[in-house]
Amino acid sequence: MNEDILKLMGQFKTIVHDGLSLEMKAYAKDNGVPIIEEQGLELLLQLLRIKNPVDILEIGSAIGYSSLMMARHLPGVFVTTIERDEATYEKATGFLKGSAVGGQIALIKGDALEIDLAKLPKEAYDVIFIDAAKAQYQKFFEKYEPILKEDGIIISDNLLFHGLVLEQDGIASKNLRKLVQKISLYNEWLASHPHYDTLLLPIGDGIAISKKKAGVKI
Ligand code: SAH
Ligand code: MG
Repeated sequence: MNEDILKLMGQFKTIVHDGLSLEMKAYAKDNGVPIIEEQGLELLLQLLRIKNPVDILEIGSAIGYSSLMMARHLPGVFVTTIERDEATYEKATGFLKGSAVGGQIALIKGDALEIDLAKLPKEAYDVIFIDAAKAQYQKFFEKYEPILKEDGIIISDNLLFHGLVLEQDGIASKNLRKLVQKISLYNEWLASHPHYDTLLLPIGDGIAISKKKAGVKI
């Protein structure tokens, strides 16, 4: 996006940081953990303010940064978040222990594609935030969509994948090209999903907002 627009958008800041969130950001930067960037987080938080959810399910906790920020900025929410990597899960547990909103977050260790839905702390969710392995998004969507509440929304992060989705020809690494192709396929699949209306925004790393279609009458 154009620099001037980004600068103007940056004036509309609502995110509040403290020592913990800044420490998590610094840790993520030093260790290459792909946490949500500021502008993407601004969008996510504003969507949540409008949606006013109680229960949020996040697939892909990493170090717990986005969970912490959702819980902190939306006092009424309860975040269930799933992380499959043991060391990352432990790191998230450690960070969230030192937070005032730890009680609003359930960290679950496991592969989101294998976890038994009945073992989740809630039966259904107002918002599902898909932010785990980028090649598996369609599988996450299909597995968790049945526990989305009727008026719920599904948010998918990183659909532009650092702009690579738009510049696939220039990708030298075969594995990376495969991953980016998978994300493209998800974009196509989601765009033509018969039961969801989706908007893709080029904010942050590309965020899609999907809403289950109401019975459309023409
Ligand atoms: N939501 C975080 C960033 C998540 S990064 C934030 O914005 O702060 C993606 C994370 O998803 C990684 O930590 C990775 O280990 C995890 N992940 C990938 N595939 C997963 C799966 N199948 N189940 C659970 N976690 C998964
Ligand atoms: Mg992300």
